[in-house]
Amino acid sequence: MTTRLTFYGGVGEIGGNKILLHDNDTKILFDFGASFSDGLDYYSAGIEPRRVNGLGDFFEFGLMPQIKGLYSEDALANTDLKYSKPDVDAVVLSHYHSDHHGKINFVDPEIPVYCGETTALFSEAYTLAGGCPLEDHKLQTFRTGKRVTIGSVEIRPIHVDHSIPGAYGFIINTSEACLVYTGDLRFHGTKGDMTGEFASEAASAFPTCLITEGTRVTPDEISQNPTEAEVSDRTARVLQSTPEKLILSTFRGNDIDRINSFLDACKKADRQLVVSMKSAAILRALEKDTNITVPRLGKDVSVYLRRKSSGTYDDKDYYKWEREFMKFGVPCEEINKHQESYFVHLDVWNLPELIDIQPDKGGAYVHSSSEAFNEEGEQEEEVIHNWVDHFGFSYHQIHASGHAPKSEIISLAKKINAKTTMPVHTEYPKIFHELLMGQKVVLPEKGTPLIIE
Ligand SMILES: [Zn+2]
Repeated sequence: MTTRLTFYGGVGEIGGNKILLHDNDTKILFDFGASFSDGLDYYSAGIEPRRVNGLGDFFEFGLMPQIKGLYSEDALANTDLKYSKPDVDAVVLSHYHSDHHGKINFVDPEIPVYCGETTALFSEAYTLAGGCPLEDHKLQTFRTGKRVTIGSVEIRPIHVDHSIPGAYGFIINTSEACLVYTGDLRFHGTKGDMTGEFASEAASAFPTCLITEGTRVTPDEISQNPTEAEVSDRTARVLQSTPEKLILSTFRGNDIDRINSFLDACKKADRQLVVSMKSAAILRALEKDTNITVPRLGKDVSVYLRRKSSGTYDDKDYYKWEREFMKFGVPCEEINKHQESYFVHLDVWNLPELIDIQPDKGGAYVHSSSEAFNEEGEQEEEVIHNWVDHFGFSYHQIHASGHAPKSEIISLAKKINAKTTMPVHTEYPKIFHELLMGQKVVLPEKGTPLIIE
């Protein structure tokens, strides 16, 4: 009887979590995400792995683990790893962010994916609007507190607050031990009490092992930790102090809390919030989730109507999934005419829309994502600055992180007080040794199984 954990990603890096739990004959993967940093030596500067080569372009550089009985026949077609029938019982997903789910498209569709009900709705929306790594998989959904049994393992998912709704931490009972996995979490969002609930439940399980995220556990002292409520207040002030000009923002369009924060700010300043088509598809899908406050399309928010092929807003120019949102659409001409009335959300790659909108100088741009943490991010920020300067906007960094700051992660680990703590999803795992003095900290190594006892 042994319980083993093998970490194939999230080791010394932010994101890319891939954690294999092996208990007796049961094998379960917790998350199977895409790495933000791993592979940039080969795949950056516009070079991308070719879809047609499946895992071949990843195995070449050791960028994905060679696990037997995990991948689909298609994914392995051009590799030396032979296809074999599924030998992994399930993938359990903490939340719908690509650094946790982004590589599930390579997993054999015969292997079930367990996820929260909200995650299944995200999958539905993204499948419709261009593709999703989960689309070939049968999804088994859970809600908080429900127990999921897979082979010899019982899993209790408990909701946590993060920068996307439907995020979970897990209390995992194996034949030998109790493990806790945080996923990604924060206490300073609009539903921080859910994370508090997870922390209490995890502590009262007296776990053998805690696998904790440590995104913001860095050597620097970070004194500021704006809350989601502050994001809304600060944005409202920007809106109120720029009464006659256009306001623009870029942020992750699936962050429903952020859409709600901006919507509140708009109400205070009598503006209309305009979101992208993709966000509209997400909002439509999430309307089915009665546990989330979702802005109503056409009432609370409008949709930015981009010009496509003919340039005349002809129905035929748009994908079928886009057409139902056209009635909520606001085109560039209308925004140009009434710049004082709108707060427009654009994805970064849609910044060229500004050329059509032709905003007057003196507008405001709200940068609402985390500040760059690598070279690629810095380059993107510089380009955004160029666009913002060109159109004469003022620049405002207003953001609340999806992750708890260092002090809160450390208090969480102390509160849970597991026999062993394993940091993942952090660039600085080593500093957990000094921060958790008196507690046993084990740093996982990529691909090396750890026996849990
Ligand atoms: Zn993450």
